[in-house]
Amino acid sequence: MEKYKQILVDRGIKPTYQRIKILEYLDKNHSHPTVDMIYGALYKKVPTLSKTTVYNTLDIFREYDLVDVLTITESEIRYEYVLQPHHHFFCKRCGKILDLDVNCVYQEAMCVEGHKIEAIHGYFKGICSECLLKNENVS
Ligand SMILES: [Zn+2]
Ligand SMILES: [Zn+2]
Repeated sequence: MEKYKQILVDRGIKPTYQRIKILEYLDKNHSHPTVDMIYGALYKKVPTLSKTTVYNTLDIFREYDLVDVLTITESEIRYEYVLQPHHHFFCKRCGKILDLDVNCVYQEAMCVEGHKIEAIHGYFKGICSECLLKNENVS
């Protein structure tokens, strides 16, 4: 708790109980959750929580660069606690979003064709290794 409170205070964000719990959840769950998933996981532990609070909190976190927003599934907005910038893989079969540890030629580039690069998010899509294995077992 104290760790997350400090992160919020350091950024100049008022450390309310709900905000601390949401930040803690994002740090401990790297599943790139949606607002619904965050709300579903926390509403029992944080009875005062509403979906609007989750939305608003994520908006604030986004403003202060505490969370990244992913639109990799095209139909949902997914959130993650910002650690190191990384690319993402979306499995079209099971819907999982995984962090992808690929060497990216642009990762180190600060400038491309005269544009200053501040963030790079690569979206990779396909079938994950687990789903591929399941497929082999079926056939
Ligand atoms: Zn899969
Ligand atoms: Zn990620």
